[in-house]
Amino acid sequence: MKACVFTLGCKMNEVESASLMRGLEARGFEVTDELGYADLYLLNTCAVTAEAERKSRQAIGRMRRYNALAPVVVLGCAAERDAEAFFKREGVTLVLGAQNKGRFFDLMEKRGIFREAECGFSELPPPKQTKTRAFLRIQDGCDRFCSYCVIPYLRGRTRSQRAERVVEEAKRCGAKEIVLTGIDISSYRDGGTDLGGLLLRLGEVPARVRLGSLEEGIVTDEFLAQMKAAGNTVPHFHLSLQSGSDAVLKKMNRRYTCAEYLDCCRRIYANFPDAAITTDIIVGFPTETEEDFEASLSIVAEAGFARVHCFPFSPRPGTVAAKWEDLPASVKRGRMERLIEAAHAAERAYIGRFLGRELTVLFEEDGGYTENYIRVYAEGAREGMLARVKLLKTEKDGARAEISEEII
Ligand code: SF4
Repeated sequence: MKACVFTLGCKMNEVESASLMRGLEARGFEVTDELGYADLYLLNTCAVTAEAERKSRQAIGRMRRYNALAPVVVLGCAAERDAEAFFKREGVTLVLGAQNKGRFFDLMEKRGIFREAECGFSELPPPKQTKTRAFLRIQDGCDRFCSYCVIPYLRGRTRSQRAERVVEEAKRCGAKEIVLTGIDISSYRDGGTDLGGLLLRLGEVPARVRLGSLEEGIVTDEFLAQMKAAGNTVPHFHLSLQSGSDAVLKKMNRRYTCAEYLDCCRRIYANFPDAAITTDIIVGFPTETEEDFEASLSIVAEAGFARVHCFPFSPRPGTVAAKWEDLPASVKRGRMERLIEAAHAAERAYIGRFLGRELTVLFEEDGGYTENYIRVYAEGAREGMLARVKLLKTEKDGARAEISEEII
């Protein structure tokens, strides 16, 4: 029997899909993540934008063209937001939403919409992952209620995996890099163990540890000291900014000012001079004026970002911001182009600082990443290789390098 697990959306969805794939394999399925003929389809949906929801619904039609007789199980945020819209599609036998993915294996035999509230951390089998990089899901849900975001309504309140389980899984998987993922990992807490405490416990794992997306408030001196003391956490901070205007941040219900955000960047650079700070910025939020947008452009230059992900604002039904008047598409498009240009300039400037220097890279199938998240391509590299390399010149989305020595 063949099962296809098709995924849209964020890293968290990818990790959860990898867990589902592993669970299916353990039950004797041949599993693929590419759309094609299968006897069972799992569709892990995304609701972050209207376009993502449309693609999620569209995937069902594609599955049915491959095998109209196969059952389709729909999971994820788009299904949580509007289970009925999926359940009424032909072929869909089960809709589990975002909060009950962990119940899938119990419910495999049953049919119908499952909508019972799930409060605890939803357990999934450990994800299917390579020996190079493993994504560990340490947290789910969010309590922050940013005014544009539908996630807290779909994934529920924050909850964390037990620290002991995280450490066990990090050791068990044997990967050379562990990436800690979740919706809001800054809120991680297991009893007295917060995210800094978890990093300290992960210090005993023979792998480098990378953090997923962080909120500004967590980057205290104490947290940075814990990162240093852990010894294996890499200096890469994905700190969502979202806007360079205090007025827009307030309307977004983000709980920091630009000055506080920049202070946080300074604290990071003071402790980790080569740190990569990467970020997300939303363009064309309903109240964003030209002046607000220009403030976002300036902060991109000022913060020294290593990478900037830019997204045009997309109103999500049920959120506060969806009630405000959307900006014209042409305004958002124009601002996106300008921000993408500024983002590329910042990325090139960041990589430029490291040309001629030696850094450590963990290679994957096509290139690899330095500890500070520079994508590197090198002759003679192979998947799983950890090596010291010298950066020669910028190339594609990163840099070309030569290998100095392999690290055993
Ligand atoms: S922190 Fe804000 S943007 Fe991120 S998931 Fe929570 S509500 Fe959404």
